[in-house]
Amino acid sequence: MTPNEESWRAARERMVREQIEARGVRDPRVLAALRAVPRHVFVPPEKRAWAYADGPLPIGHGQTISQPYIVARMTELLGLQGDEKVLEVGTGSGYQAAILGHLAREVHTLERVPELAAQAAERLARLGLDHVQVHVADGSLGWPPAAPYDAILVAAAAPEVPRALLAQLAPGGRLVLPVGDRYQQVLERWTRTGPDRYHREVFEPVAFVPLIGDQGWPAA
Ligand code: SAM
Repeated sequence: MTPNEESWRAARERMVREQIEARGVRDPRVLAALRAVPRHVFVPPEKRAWAYADGPLPIGHGQTISQPYIVARMTELLGLQGDEKVLEVGTGSGYQAAILGHLAREVHTLERVPELAAQAAERLARLGLDHVQVHVADGSLGWPPAAPYDAILVAAAAPEVPRALLAQLAPGGRLVLPVGDRYQQVLERWTRTGPDRYHREVFEPVAFVPLIGDQGWPAA
């Protein structure tokens, strides 16, 4: 039996209450975005039954859609108010980009695997998120044509913070990313406090797939 919209909505509501609010995410705009975006649209058909489960899921090409709580937590750390220009690195399924699209004025998202980028662009367009643009690029170098950004979210693990991304932050802008080795990382937030000054904060441990690129890890 294919679940109908009402049962997807109920699953989404449970996800928000039990996985996200229960773990301390409080920003009402972030919670509303998680209630609004149909996560099941972003997972492969054979994985849909697990779309609202408490973990990452495979999306092909050796990549994953992140755990819902991690999406919520990283988004909350960006502190979006609604009028920002945002860059995401690591489009994957497009789910995180859709969440950002609900919370910001303009979103650019970068993916190195062209097939994933094409699928994500199609899903985002179907949901009417025309202000979210997908580009095929090495996101470790950012996306200079639309810089600077008020917020940057990196959804893949970097060995250290990519200098190119710091340079594309607007004054007061925030960069949230996982930094560490290939298997475990910590979430970091870098805030641009002056032309050459940044404030770094460290949050919880996470495990992301690697950021492959010029200012990330070399391709295996
Ligand atoms: N945000 C995604 C979502 O909502 O489904 C999940 C991202 S997945 C954990 C990491 C993604 O980063 C993969 O799709 C991978 O191909 C991509 N990636 C890795 N290195 C990259 C790079 N240098 N530039 C752009 N994308 C990259």
